[in-house]
Amino acid sequence: MLFRIIGGGSNVLIADAGVQGVIVLSQARAVSFETQSDDLSVAAESGAAFGSVARRAVDRGLGGLEWATTIPGTIGGAVVGNAGAHGNDVAGWLIVAEILQHEGGKEYWSAERLEYAYRDSWLKRNPGEAVVLSATFRLEQSTKEQAKARASEYGAFRKRTQPPGASWGSMFKNPPGDHAGRLIEDAGLKGMRRGDIQISEQHANFFINLGDGTAEDAWKLIEAARRAVAKQFGIELETEIELLGNWEPTSEQAENAEGGRA
Ligand SMILES: Cc1cc2nc3c(=O)[nH]c(=O)nc-3n(C[C@H](O)[C@H](O)[C@H](O)COP(=O)(O)OP(=O)(O)OC[C@H]3O[C@@H](n4cnc5c(N)ncnc54)[C@H](O)[C@@H]3O)c2cc1C
Repeated sequence: MLFRIIGGGSNVLIADAGVQGVIVLSQARAVSFETQSDDLSVAAESGAAFGSVARRAVDRGLGGLEWATTIPGTIGGAVVGNAGAHGNDVAGWLIVAEILQHEGGKEYWSAERLEYAYRDSWLKRNPGEAVVLSATFRLEQSTKEQAKARASEYGAFRKRTQPPGASWGSMFKNPPGDHAGRLIEDAGLKGMRRGDIQISEQHANFFINLGDGTAEDAWKLIEAARRAVAKQFGIELETEIELLGNWEPTSEQAENAEGGRA
């Protein structure tokens, strides 16, 4: 790896040994709203916080992105991971993403060109191959009251169902027709702890750093959850987060991880 762009770092697990290569933090944060034509939209540079862009739309009485108001991370990370919540995702609202490719060519990619799937895209499957410079999202006419009400309903749902504390959000993707949290809970792993990382007592797809958790601790829990769910339900959980950096797993981990690292 020569270089890698990171946004908020909220969807990556970086090895304790660090990263050999250059990590670029996107600080480009300009945001502009198009409200003059019938085609309402917002364009934001890749380092802008996705949740903040969505909240600014709500404050203007513009609808469409209320579901994104509580998603951590940046526009770049959201475009790469097809971030989503409450039945919506980036794929459904993206008009176009401005993409810089290795050879230096700049192109505008549609959602179709990004080959979006559930928490997945061409960019996620081809890490380091292209840089998201900015993205433009469709918006809808609404009122400030309506947009705010919808955003706070989503916020309240999140507070009710997801644990507080430092986490990665959902650790695993939900397998078709099921929920990773339910499977890990039914495998009896709620509350399991390795070092200072714990599988949340409230929602088993959330792994909480209680203070001094290491990436190694997190990886051990990921493996424990994956093994238990595979053994009890025959389902292979796939991580939603990505592993970055110099991972030198023990032979046991390497064996267990075979093909599993995102
Ligand atoms: C408490 C909590 C709740 C969460 N809830 C949700 C949720 O409801 N829905 C959801 O989808 N996710 C959720 N997440 C996960 C995370 O917030 C999202 O995946 C988010 O979109 C990641 O953005 P980021 O900027 O942090 O990405 P990063 O973690 O920085 O990067 C993710 C990937 O994108 C790449 N990348 C980032 N920026 C660029 C760029 N400009 N160009 C090219 N590649 C880039 C990185 O190299 C990496 O491969 C949650 C996380 C937490 C901690």
